[in-house]
Amino acid sequence: MRIVLFGAPGAGKGTQAERLVREFGLLHLSTGEVLRRAIREGTRLGKEAQGFMDRGDLVPDEVVIGIVKEALSKLDVGHGFVLDGFPRTTFQATELERFLSEMNRNLTHVLSLEVGEDELVTRIMARAAHAKEARSDDSEVSIRTRFKKFASETLPLKKFYQERHLLREIDGAQSVDLVHEDLRAALLTS
Ligand code: AMP
Repeated sequence: MRIVLFGAPGAGKGTQAERLVREFGLLHLSTGEVLRRAIREGTRLGKEAQGFMDRGDLVPDEVVIGIVKEALSKLDVGHGFVLDGFPRTTFQATELERFLSEMNRNLTHVLSLEVGEDELVTRIMARAAHAKEARSDDSEVSIRTRFKKFASETLPLKKFYQERHLLREIDGAQSVDLVHEDLRAALLTS
């Protein structure tokens, strides 16, 4: 299984990716997590990314593509993965496709978590209120920018993957368990 988990900010990609990873023994690659760790550790990557992330802007394509290529090139050929938060632009998707095909691989599933905007805002505000889960980019202005970027840069990827017959839409507004069940079913039936 070589999966892209697709969805708006707050759709539950991280939570569901963790469940899939546990169940199917896949590598979980969250570009957002890699970037947050780099910021915590004060590395050059972190310094480069921090301003973009705090504003809710996308980090430049070359930076995130570099992260993904590095992680995937270390994987054994047969090892599956879940990408969470990548790709977010058409350029990233095209580069991913090119990179995988160079290794004679391709994506097997693109699963889109569909959640209405009101529910997304509620979830992100709830996350911001929980100190344990708080993220420096969960401020109101940044959240707004992230939604705008999602609509303009990332949403067009649905068509990209529909054309490749990879996209499946999952009702992401259900409970965590039910969303997981639907994801499993989509993975095991196609
Ligand atoms: P996430 O944890 O996926 O919500 O990502 C948090 C932030 O990291 C995003 O708002 C972006 O600033 C940055 N980021 C993560 N993944 C990407 C990506 N694929 N392309 C550009 N920026 C990204």
